[in-house]
Amino acid sequence: MKRPRLFTFDQPTPSATTHRLVDQDIVAVSQFDPPLIDYVFDVAAEMREMHERIGGTDLLRGKVLTCLFYEPSTRTSSSFIAAMERLSGSVIPITQGVQFSSVSKGETLHDTIRTLEQYSDVIVLRHPETGAAGIAAAAATIPIINAGDGAGEHPTQALLDLFTIKQERGTLDGLHVAMVGDLRYGRTVHSLTQLLLHYDVEFSFVSPELLRLPLPYMNQLKAANKTVHETYNVADVIGSADILYVTRVQKERFSDLTQYEEVKDYYRVTPEIMSHAKDNAIIMHPLPRVNEIDVRVDSDPRAAYFRQVKNGMYIRMALLAAVLGKA
Ligand code: ASP
Repeated sequence: MKRPRLFTFDQPTPSATTHRLVDQDIVAVSQFDPPLIDYVFDVAAEMREMHERIGGTDLLRGKVLTCLFYEPSTRTSSSFIAAMERLSGSVIPITQGVQFSSVSKGETLHDTIRTLEQYSDVIVLRHPETGAAGIAAAAATIPIINAGDGAGEHPTQALLDLFTIKQERGTLDGLHVAMVGDLRYGRTVHSLTQLLLHYDVEFSFVSPELLRLPLPYMNQLKAANKTVHETYNVADVIGSADILYVTRVQKERFSDLTQYEEVKDYYRVTPEIMSHAKDNAIIMHPLPRVNEIDVRVDSDPRAAYFRQVKNGMYIRMALLAAVLGKA
């Protein structure tokens, strides 16, 4: 007797929620409400199970992704490429620097997007300017996925961060989340903070004065009646935080590098600091890290940042399948 297929992704069951991402751009986290987040997490969990059991599947065979990166990337670009390849799709990788493309000849973002969409089914874009993903989405007729636009947003990172919190703690409610570091320029902080507004979360923001969370995000938190603390010192939150979300100072966003020098070593999580953290606290980081987490913390079971990296591939598999109508 023929063994039944393990995965039947090529005949998706349409539902109101799944249809919300088909052919859509993913530009900002404001597009995601809890039912849509749950759906993405369900698909990502299926992707993980599939990956662990059989490595890959042919869900996106015949589909082409262009990765267009105007800024450096390790995890975002390679996890999108891995995601596409695990699903048997193909990739046009413009990730080694747009200096090797016609951008260096002065081509506009609009024209580059209009060109690449002729070859592709979906484009993942990273760009140094806030709002660039929205401009690309307006120019394109195929889905654009924002892989970071300047100090603006990084929605796919925020989804994988949230997925990691859920996986590590089993819930998104009743948690005290402490964001540490460059809250001013850190786009992952901006996106994750907005996603967490949907849940029963207490927030602490830990940064030097210069790198405080921008006012519009603070106002959103106030409007949502969230409990919010601000402090300069990790020691103030380490004993009560469930999630310690540490970030790098975003050197590339500083116009005055002397200011960067002043704040770059402001905080550093060490095993000594972690000795004051809760037993079930989780330490996360979108990476790359510079000096803000001591490498000796890596062997602490509470250090979740490399597990977080792997979740990035599952979330991006889910999002690619969803926008291409295969989830
Ligand atoms: N990789 C993340 C980003 O692209 C975090 C960082 O670069 O610090 O925003």
